[in-house]
Amino acid sequence: MNYDLIILGAGTAGLTASIYAACSGLKVLCIENQTCGGQIVNTPDIINYPGFKNISGLDFSQKLQSQAVDLGVDIKNEQICKIDLEQKNKTIITDNNEYNSKAVIIATGTRRRELGCKGEEQFRGRGVTYCATCDGRFFKNKIVGIVGGGNTAVEDAIYLSNICKHVYVIHRRNEFRASERSVKIMKQRKNITLKLNSVVDSIEGKNLMENVILTDTITNEKTSLPLNGLFVAVGSIPNSREFSKWVDLDEQGYIVAGEDCETKTCGVFVAGDVRTKKIRQLVTAASDGAIAALAAAEYINHIN
Ligand code: NAP
Repeated sequence: MNYDLIILGAGTAGLTASIYAACSGLKVLCIENQTCGGQIVNTPDIINYPGFKNISGLDFSQKLQSQAVDLGVDIKNEQICKIDLEQKNKTIITDNNEYNSKAVIIATGTRRRELGCKGEEQFRGRGVTYCATCDGRFFKNKIVGIVGGGNTAVEDAIYLSNICKHVYVIHRRNEFRASERSVKIMKQRKNITLKLNSVVDSIEGKNLMENVILTDTITNEKTSLPLNGLFVAVGSIPNSREFSKWVDLDEQGYIVAGEDCETKTCGVFVAGDVRTKKIRQLVTAASDGAIAALAAAEYINHIN
């Protein structure tokens, strides 16, 4: 099947690119291998997206998706098996179909980083989880830990403090990456305790997890902390490796491109969290989507 533009990924960047490309008159396919919406579907409350005082991540991404579909974008839930972006005619082969297009936007986002400690694999789904909004309700009135010092960890700690009896925030440094406003709210919560300069050494239990062993990064002292659950929020890894033949990756694996979202391969653009950038926010993902779609439309007009 032939399209003008294929967008890989249906998160905020991919869906915004779909909307802008459709508005530019392009025939657009957006391919997603998981659920539409990307990582934001797991965010309970978005309070900083212009125009919405408060909206859940799920509601936000459903609105984006329905806007794209109403504008005529084809959205397919398929696994990508083979890619060739070298030629003028780009080819994407999925588990169901072969698609061709004049241009491609990579908007594949990031996936959650794991802790990599002893017991993480064993107790995954038995206390260890990666999504506070999905699993928080299973820990009502329980004692939980959350690992990380970024916006996800801090916002999730606040969210969990409304559900759980007590929340321990385990962070490897004594300063947070998260916004000052969120850190302030977290520090005001009586049922949140900070475990700073601490890393999770191992997770222990029988059938379910029962405690974590923490190592103090300054003194090297090890302590046991009894927990019913452990939420891991230690950042993300870019979904970019399969494109490395056609784009440059930085040392962390993000696709190198400036604010114009252009890669080193003609007709290949990159948008959203998978791109090298300083600020990864919903609004910057949406902004990338618009820029990449308009750049792709201009490119397609030139080659036609
Ligand atoms: P992040 O900002 O990369 O933070 C990851 C945190 O995990 C850091 O504090 C890091 O510690 C820690 N960490 C990394 N690897 C670790 C390991 N192996 N063991 C222990 N700790 C580890 O990730 P994020 O919080 O998921 O946020 C990702 C992006 O989304 C950010 O740009 C964030 O601002 C954005 N975001 C925005 C919102 C919002 O605007 N409402 C909400 C959520 C996320 P160090 O600090 O020591 O490096």
